[in-house]
Amino acid sequence: MLSLRDAYGRVARDMRVSLTDRCNLRCTYCMPAEGMEWMPAEVTLTDDEMIRLIGVAVERLGVTKVRFTGGEPLIRPGLADIVAGTKRMTTVNGDAPETALTTNGIGLDRKLDKLVPAGLDRVNISLDSLDRERYKQLARRDRLDAVLRSIEAVAAAGLTPVKINSVIMRGVNEMDAVPLAEFALRGGYELRFIEQMPLGPKGQWDRSQMVTQQELLDMLGEHLTLTAAEEARGAAPAELWDVAADDRQPGGRIGVIASVTNPFCGNCDRTRLTSDGQVRTCLFSNTETDLRAMMRDGAADDDLADAWTGAHKYKPKAHGIDEDDFVQPDRTMSAIGG
Ligand code: SAM
Ligand code: SF4
Repeated sequence: MLSLRDAYGRVARDMRVSLTDRCNLRCTYCMPAEGMEWMPAEVTLTDDEMIRLIGVAVERLGVTKVRFTGGEPLIRPGLADIVAGTKRMTTVNGDAPETALTTNGIGLDRKLDKLVPAGLDRVNISLDSLDRERYKQLARRDRLDAVLRSIEAVAAAGLTPVKINSVIMRGVNEMDAVPLAEFALRGGYELRFIEQMPLGPKGQWDRSQMVTQQELLDMLGEHLTLTAAEEARGAAPAELWDVAADDRQPGGRIGVIASVTNPFCGNCDRTRLTSDGQVRTCLFSNTETDLRAMMRDGAADDDLADAWTGAHKYKPKAHGIDEDDFVQPDRTMSAIGG
């Protein structure tokens, strides 16, 4: 079997599949309020095309985990069919791939009855504030209640550990960091803070303004007792801290994905497929490999697999956000798949 090995010896086994570039929220760090140009329907992969490419990655290239994202993956009508199609595949280990979803959670409570039998294993739900007004300001939609309902429903359905993703921004929702942490500990959810990256509206990100991992830990440390978790970070992007129980809530675990101040590029095991069938070897790539055109021109699975492995030989060593010549990719996070 081929593998997605790059020039630095990293092997990609974890695939992010963007199912759509569209979304029902407009989070300020991800999209402008108006004027997003959506991909035309004809360039978006059909469900069958999507399943075929996932199959190439899983059955020919050694991918063992598939995470569906977007845009908002829940708004893709064929999501459950794509999950089921993925779960029918066999990995290099002889079992079905692990499947996960990164979602804003809106309407997920009503879709679990299809997604769980389809074989969805785990869910990450994004939540940046527990305050209704601030949530509305940040996501530009008044949907906090819908998200909270889904978090409870996912836990009740046994898709655990439920992970919550939060982006904290200076002067916007710093006051939410501790309440989010306490909410997660009380509910038994695993919270992941994500450092804001230059992947939203162009010109908006400012390195000197972003809230760093260290600042987050300082904020949390004023209210919670944190100890660095013992296990190695490996290919996981989050660094983990154990939180001690106190008289307000049970203990648990909190992670920080410090993509900017403490990048995990050296251990990155990701490959990415966009909803228009482009392979990206890094969130910050400025090049893509067009599998859609190949597939629609009649390429065989072997050719698609060769093109994918060829792309990975050129996976960049690191994202280079801190380099002087860093250029923000043309696609925003929502069009790449976060
Ligand atoms: N719509 C889904 C959601 O919000 O979870 C999936 C797609 S979203 C692009 C995936 C993750 O990327 C979310 O957790 C979101 O908070 C995060 N994200 C989006 N823009 C980001 C940025 N500029 N920096 C850091 N994280 C970002
Ligand atoms: Fe939509 Fe997710 Fe981007 Fe928010 S972060 S606008 S929910 S794609």
